[in-house]
Amino acid sequence: MSHNSFPGSMLSCARVWALLEKIDAAEADRRRSEGCEHCGGRLHGARYPRKPHALASALRGDVRRFSFCCSECRSRTTPPSVRFFGRRYRVAPVFLAACLMILGGSAPVETASRIWGIPAVTLRRWRRWWRETFPATAAWRWKRGELAVPPDDPPLVVLVRLMRGRSPRSKLLRSLVWLMPWTGSCRIGDGLSPPAESVPVALA
Ligand SMILES: [Zn+2]
Repeated sequence: MSHNSFPGSMLSCARVWALLEKIDAAEADRRRSEGCEHCGGRLHGARYPRKPHALASALRGDVRRFSFCCSECRSRTTPPSVRFFGRRYRVAPVFLAACLMILGGSAPVETASRIWGIPAVTLRRWRRWWRETFPATAAWRWKRGELAVPPDDPPLVVLVRLMRGRSPRSKLLRSLVWLMPWTGSCRIGDGLSPPAESVPVALA
C-alpha cells in the first residue's frame, strides 16, 4: 500500500473527525450503561482533555477523551476509542497509517518518519508493539481466528487488507473500529504513570 494512500489531509477532513467522535460517543454511552466494573456504581462523565498530536490544526480546539468516574468508589473508566489509541500522543488514525506503512514495508522507518513528522525512535517502538506486545494479548489470540492470518504476515497489514471499504481510508477507519478493544484501559489518576508513549495498551 503506497504511502500516498493516507495523506495527512485525511485528518484535515472535519467530517472524518466528527464521525470518529460520534463512534467514541456511542461506545462511551454503551460503557456508561454498564456501570462501574468494580462496584456496579453509577458512572459520571469525567472527560479529560487530550492534545491531539498530528491532527489538522483547525480541529485541535477542545478535544476530550470520553471517561467516567464512579459515584461510589471513584474509580475511573475510560472506554475504547477510535480517536486515541491508548496513551499515545498521536491520534489513532495517524498511529495506524504510519504503522501500516512501516509494517507493510512500503517505506523504511526513516522515510515514514519524514512523511509523518514522527521521530524514527517512536516508529520503531510502535513497530515493536505490533510485533511483540499485540500478538501476545488475550484479545488478539481470541480474535485472530476471525481473520485467518498467515503466520508470517503482520496482523495489522492483514487486517486492513481484509476490511471492506472502497478506499484505503475507509479500510483504515473500519480497522480502527475493529481494534477498539486495544485502545481503552488507560487509567489516569491512579498515581504515577510511566511516560505515555512507553505504555503498552493494557488488556483484561
Ligand atoms: Zn465503583
